[in-house]
Amino acid sequence: MTSTVKDAIRRGRKTVEDVVEAGLNTVDAVVVKGRQTVESAVSLGRRTVEHTLLHGRSTMKAAILHGREDIRIEHVPVPEAAAGELVVRVGAALTCGTDLKVFRRGYHARMIVPPALFGHELAGTVVEAGEGVTGFATGERVVALNSAPCGECYFCARGQENLCDDLLFNNGAYAEFIRIPARIAAKNTLHVPDHVPLEHAALTEPLACAVHGFEDSHPRAGDTVAVIGGGPLGLMILHVAALAGYEVIAIVRHDGQADAARQLGAAHVVQATSIRKAIRETRRLTPNDRGVDIAIEAVGAPEAWEEAVELVRKGGTVNFFGGCAVGTHVNLDTNRIHYSDITLRATFHHTPAICRKALELIAGGRFQAAAFITGHAHLYELNRVFEKLMKRSSEIKTAIVP
Ligand SMILES: [Zn+2]
Ligand SMILES: [Zn+2]
Repeated sequence: MTSTVKDAIRRGRKTVEDVVEAGLNTVDAVVVKGRQTVESAVSLGRRTVEHTLLHGRSTMKAAILHGREDIRIEHVPVPEAAAGELVVRVGAALTCGTDLKVFRRGYHARMIVPPALFGHELAGTVVEAGEGVTGFATGERVVALNSAPCGECYFCARGQENLCDDLLFNNGAYAEFIRIPARIAAKNTLHVPDHVPLEHAALTEPLACAVHGFEDSHPRAGDTVAVIGGGPLGLMILHVAALAGYEVIAIVRHDGQADAARQLGAAHVVQATSIRKAIRETRRLTPNDRGVDIAIEAVGAPEAWEEAVELVRKGGTVNFFGGCAVGTHVNLDTNRIHYSDITLRATFHHTPAICRKALELIAGGRFQAAAFITGHAHLYELNRVFEKLMKRSSEIKTAIVP
């Protein structure tokens, strides 16, 4: 009996001791955990405050593409620059034919999958440079391109960086701030000279495509160049060719495009009611109706691709510059291509070297940058701007100012 009581007391004491010990452990753990939570909250708070001070606020307005003809201006966190990255306050973002296509189709196989930040032609001011960035500092004016090649694949090694297997694209220009990925910050972000307005510098990307398309057609002194299409890129290509001293024939549809083509240096403007007439009229502008030396298609339609082949002389060069919708096929006269010894090319995108050339052209003063920016609008008006562009107005590019 006595021993049973003693045992019970001993057991009881042990249980109490166990409970107390477990309790103490729990309290310790809670205190440690609590301290950690407080510390991490403080550090997070400090970082948020620092970030807010740096940018002036923690959220920004940005255009988010949700699908077909559905852009919404939303409040999203201001991006932060991780190692190697930049955050740029957008000074001007330009509308572009590619963005219009994306707006109309709701996606772009290679460049953008919704919901996503939108817009890719921009210039602005660096507000944050991530760890390890040496080329740029806060306050510097830059143009950040929409892509950068890997530098390591077969195509990059051959200097065809526009065809890089791992081309990195960046979108988000229609916003107050944009994050520039490390690779683009390192390879395809350029300082904007003081005398160049940011909205002119933002033309670097499309102009690089235009310069690439023109140079890739391998023009020779004295060549006559026909450019089909009076959109922003057609006009840019013809301006580049005219500035380089070539005789340019612009083939356009609308009166506004004809006026712009003349202003940008086209020697002749063909504004025919049908493709057959445009071919005849263009050929008539060359000796013995022989055809032009180079024809550059900048529409992105199969009829225009076929037209381009009919415009060139024997031994001439055709550049299918305008990308058509997926699955498009064309009918070409094989006899004409073979027996007239016609060179067919199709230039896509740009390379870092050509982007530098394009910015030099803009900064050089002869390039009429202002002629390409025919309107200004606030970020909130973006939907309206694209709807207007879909109606094929005389607007070339609109500068979106956030
Ligand atoms: Zn573009
Ligand atoms: Zn590559």
